[in-house]
Amino acid sequence: MAKTRQSQRRLLESFTIKGPDGVIKPGDCVLMKAPESSKKPYVARVEKIEATRAQGTQVKLKVRWYYRPEEVTDGRQIFHGSKEVFLSDHYDSQSVDTIECKCYVHTIRKYTKLRSIGTEDYFCRFEYKSATGIFVPDRVAVFCKCEMPYNPDNLMIQCEDCFDWFHPSCVGMTDQEAKKLENFYCESCIAENEKKVHKPNGATTQSEEKDVEVEENPVQIFKPAQFGNKRNMKEY
Ligand SMILES: [Zn+2]
Ligand SMILES: [Zn+2]
Repeated sequence: MAKTRQSQRRLLESFTIKGPDGVIKPGDCVLMKAPESSKKPYVARVEKIEATRAQGTQVKLKVRWYYRPEEVTDGRQIFHGSKEVFLSDHYDSQSVDTIECKCYVHTIRKYTKLRSIGTEDYFCRFEYKSATGIFVPDRVAVFCKCEMPYNPDNLMIQCEDCFDWFHPSCVGMTDQEAKKLENFYCESCIAENEKKVHKPNGATTQSEEKDVEVEENPVQIFKPAQFGNKRNMKEY
């Protein structure tokens, strides 16, 4: 019995849905209708496309689900981006009828470099073990005084001295004010420099004391340039 079934099942290289970007291949990502229409569509990675011949041909997708932050044990955290998803270890078989459209799950690095973020653009930086609720990696670089992982939805500015990144609100500024800044030095770098300048006991006579260097670079905004290259790592 199993043999005859096997022979009627074959793998397809692609499946085409309506729309301008309709060719779906293994490795592509798709949005699939959630059973309740009020819910956001599910995000899935297509592993295999299978055609079975029973009564007529049925095409099914073997998928690996991406979970949204709302669907994980601890729920959405402040540093989770609005378009963040986690690659789960949860596999499923779905009819092609549930496909809404193709979507794109980028690395966070690529996502922050997109010129414009479309409704079909997502990013993934963690894998998620659905049975245990464990994230991989379990450590992530943190930034700013608040020691938070990067959330690409939020503006950040870089200190020109220590190169750490800060949320304008954490350094007492609005985003608008931060965008207008020409130079930014964080509180601790300013304090450090003041210590050097106002050293007691004639330190001012030491000619090697440096003034605060004012560089011409405009303030760097938005993206921590190098993820994972940070000494501050925190467990999540
Ligand atoms: Zn902060
Ligand atoms: Zn600094």
